[in-house]
Amino acid sequence: MKQVRTRFAPSPTGYLHIGGLRTALYAWLYAKKYDGKFILRIEDTDQERFVEGATELIYRTMRETGLMYDEGPDVGGDYGPYIQSERRDTYQQYIDQLIESGGAYYCFCTKEELQQRREAAEKDGGAFRYDGKCKHIPLEEAKRRVAAGEPYVVRQCIPQTGEAGFDDLVFGHISVPVEELEEGILMKSDGLPTYNFANVVDDHLMGITHVIRGMEYLSSTPKYNLLYEALGWEVPTYIHLAPVMRDAQHKLSKRHGDASYEDFINKGYLKDAIINYIALVGWNPGTDQEIFTLDELIDAFDVKGISKSPGIFDVQKLTWMNAEYIRKMDEAAFTQAAMPYYQQILQPDAVQCNILYRVLQPRLEVFTQIPEKIAFLKELPAYDNALYVHKKMKTDEAVARKAVGASYEALKKLTQWTEQSVHDALMQTAQENEMKNGQIFWPVRVAVTGTEVTPGGAIEAAVLLGREETLRRMEHAMAQLAE
Ligand code: GLU
Repeated sequence: MKQVRTRFAPSPTGYLHIGGLRTALYAWLYAKKYDGKFILRIEDTDQERFVEGATELIYRTMRETGLMYDEGPDVGGDYGPYIQSERRDTYQQYIDQLIESGGAYYCFCTKEELQQRREAAEKDGGAFRYDGKCKHIPLEEAKRRVAAGEPYVVRQCIPQTGEAGFDDLVFGHISVPVEELEEGILMKSDGLPTYNFANVVDDHLMGITHVIRGMEYLSSTPKYNLLYEALGWEVPTYIHLAPVMRDAQHKLSKRHGDASYEDFINKGYLKDAIINYIALVGWNPGTDQEIFTLDELIDAFDVKGISKSPGIFDVQKLTWMNAEYIRKMDEAAFTQAAMPYYQQILQPDAVQCNILYRVLQPRLEVFTQIPEKIAFLKELPAYDNALYVHKKMKTDEAVARKAVGASYEALKKLTQWTEQSVHDALMQTAQENEMKNGQIFWPVRVAVTGTEVTPGGAIEAAVLLGREETLRRMEHAMAQLAE
């Protein structure tokens, strides 16, 4: 059997859509599953849409997510160049071949003429499709006009009758009467190919065995197959994918900030969670397993589980999954991901990674929640004495007055400020005052954090704040309780 070769062929738009990343993931998985090769090809023939830095963003994202390619522009390979704008001569060669064999023809219709004909057709209530006007120009004459410098495009010549069909591994048999297919442009007046032509040439020359791409290309695929035939090439196997949507009606949109991989990274999601989640948007492993490493995905992946209907991208589900990934992070990995968020709130010398890891890791869904969760460390918020009232802890203002006062005296005496020493001092205070532990810990936590819910308790808060700030806040509490 031929070695499996799949590819991801993004256009460098500066924006890696979640749906595109999922296409890349499935193509990568398919290649890995069958010991094949995964290729990255940059489709930049639309020069008007050129975006600075866009290809680098693609390289970076693929590396970051672990979807590394075996061949591609920046890693090389035997079938390059892997950037379409560097393949002009190759396309020209096959355009010439198609023109000679009658599979394509020169078209000299200007934009204005086409517009007029389009308007006329629409007036009659029809939709305009290229009417084949230039198809009838004898080749010799067309060549003379080209040589004389007349602007032209090259169009695909489609047979007049018959069916064009193929079997898609997801959508089954697709067949269209050829008269429904437009004789579209293969090469533009700037000498660059359209996607409609380049995808065929490149997939063939790069030895792609399985074309995995969005289903927006499903209806054009019969046309592409006619090109394969006209060039005498073998048609690849197709796996078209239904889109990833926000809900049944809406696409993921740039405007809502929920369309690209970067959007989710910026919202504090982990790359591994994103990849794991999108694997399941439109593919069903057939088991209850939801958490997968990339290796486990390779094992489990099966085209039979790919859905024909759009996949709904459920942010809540992603958030749940992200939290699961956070729970599994060790301190080093957690700290690395959390550091930019710590630094939004804390001075570098106040970042006590170990405590922060312990108190935050069990409570976090996404990393962007960190600043809000630790904001009390930067500044004591204004709070009401009502916060001291806690039924279960058996505390009220009077208890708090006593607890904060006694704890303050005990803590002030400490020469060492560690979790152990703070803990011991507070426990001892409880004992000496014949109070329950909660009657000490709750009021102290309120006094030093001014917040109802905090990650961690009084001890962690005191150590994170440091001796001086803890005592200052307790003095403030005593004054507020005395009022
Ligand atoms: N450049 C095309 C796109 O970004 C790729 C389609 C394909 O995979 O063939 O939509």
